[in-house]
Amino acid sequence: MAPLNGPVAEQIAKHISEVTNAPFQIETQQSVSGGCINQAAKVSDRKRTFFIKTNHATQLAMFEAERDGLQEMYDSRSIRVPQPLCCGVTHSLSYIVMEWLELGGGCSGGAWRRMGEQLAAMHKATSTQGYGWHRDNTIGSTPQQNQWCEDWVEFWRDRRLGPQFSLAHAKGGYFPRRDELMNAIPRLIGAHTPMASLLHGDLWSGNAAITVEGEPVILDPATYYGDPESDLAMTELFGRFPHEFYQAYDSVLPIATAYRQRKVLYNLYHILNHYNLFGGSYESQANSMIAQILS
Ligand code: ADP
Repeated sequence: MAPLNGPVAEQIAKHISEVTNAPFQIETQQSVSGGCINQAAKVSDRKRTFFIKTNHATQLAMFEAERDGLQEMYDSRSIRVPQPLCCGVTHSLSYIVMEWLELGGGCSGGAWRRMGEQLAAMHKATSTQGYGWHRDNTIGSTPQQNQWCEDWVEFWRDRRLGPQFSLAHAKGGYFPRRDELMNAIPRLIGAHTPMASLLHGDLWSGNAAITVEGEPVILDPATYYGDPESDLAMTELFGRFPHEFYQAYDSVLPIATAYRQRKVLYNLYHILNHYNLFGGSYESQANSMIAQILS
């Protein structure tokens, strides 16, 4: 990213100093690639290192929701996530600061097995308020509605697929079997009444990593409470996680046989979101998935 310049760097450093109760100044900074939405950098005073993401000032709420999501996952003490420090706005930029994690560890030593066990442990953290979250957030940069809902069918139809179809329609997308699909959701989910589990919400392979110490980490969440199968489904969407991940997950939280059918309904949400973010062939991919779900 463009380097954090004088006043911006100073403000962020001041904020870090305040929340950590120790003076901090940015002495080195390095841009970090790999994100889809924001600009990112590693900053350091040569003693302490942090990870910073920035965007337009208008995106503050997105970072606040990310901070809250990371904190909730962090507090579940189940799987490693970067500890969030603070977020704010300065000089027309919004930012989030979090713990820097040295990523890039290999998959030897059972890291993916631990990823499976620890994700299942996180999914055991449940909400007593039903499905949803205390605030809306974003999936990529698309708004994600999280108003609490007692009923999973209603949640998936009205808070997940419905809003994505509306955005896709406004964008000119053509989904001839949309109504048929929406009407079939009660039958497709049927008697399945999942736990309201703490979810990552956007768990594709780019948001899972191993630290150089071999510790599994999940990043960049779109947190809410919902069916744990929807997190699992996304791990299979853009390049499946290694086999031992699923074995280990299943040993802690057994994966139902009917997950295979529900998985496509859950991943349709992400493909519609990709159509809304990137357009192109995601429209035909969504239509193929709809046909598969209804077959
Ligand atoms: P975006 O919100 O733009 O999608 P990400 O949160 O995915 O950005 O971060 C971009 C990349 O930065 C990730 O793919 C990962 O490699 C790296 N990264 C994310 N969080 C950290 C962190 N706390 N410490 C070190 N590297 C990180």
